[in-house]
Amino acid sequence: MSKAAISTDVQFHRRVGLKMAAAIREVLWNRPGSHRQGVLVVRLGSGRATYHRYDPVRREHLINLGLEMIAAKQQPGQCGEWLSTREILNRGYFQRQVSVAHLLAHTCVHEFAHLVQTVQGERRRGAVHNPAFYRILDNLHADGVADAVLEYLTSAEEVLVAPLDATPVTVAMRSSTVGFRRGDCVAFAYRQQTHTGRITRVNRRTCSVDGTGASRGLRFRVSPSLLERLDGP
Ligand SMILES: [Zn+2]
Repeated sequence: MSKAAISTDVQFHRRVGLKMAAAIREVLWNRPGSHRQGVLVVRLGSGRATYHRYDPVRREHLINLGLEMIAAKQQPGQCGEWLSTREILNRGYFQRQVSVAHLLAHTCVHEFAHLVQTVQGERRRGAVHNPAFYRILDNLHADGVADAVLEYLTSAEEVLVAPLDATPVTVAMRSSTVGFRRGDCVAFAYRQQTHTGRITRVNRRTCSVDGTGASRGLRFRVSPSLLERLDGP
């Protein structure tokens, strides 16, 4: 790929990120009855990491959208390892339709659900994807809020970027290590316990993982089908 093509892609992903940021502000944060408390900053990061963080001193919610995450989701059929894909399929969001637009709309909603979770005092260290979080996320989908985000991202009036593709695709959920990289933060269940760790090596059929947090000091070789990525939804 030529240098020009790469920079065009980056510009495109940046415009998509700006549109997602606008959707978070306009559709989620400014929605009547929204859980607004403090200020909201939405930022584009250069890497893959996508997260919500709250600074209680400045009373500031930060949502960071990773440009590499946006780039990866342009190939929705290859996004089986992303949590957003699994949530759409396993929890029946968007009638289980996966496309560029559905994945990115759900990403906005997922991060905003962390904001609501924080405001409600339900964020727990080491267990952010807890039942309280999924109650909030389920409601944002059931109340039509997620559909409004999808509509915003697929609307043609926006000048920022052409409407995102909402054509559903079939996701390859094969047990492949494709998509995982050394250094990725992951979680997985083993013997009815949830472990967290960092990938130290991507093998052909498994990932080598060094435990972190409560699992520090433990080493695992894990099938990719069991791994949940922690650096982004
Ligand atoms: Zn999350």
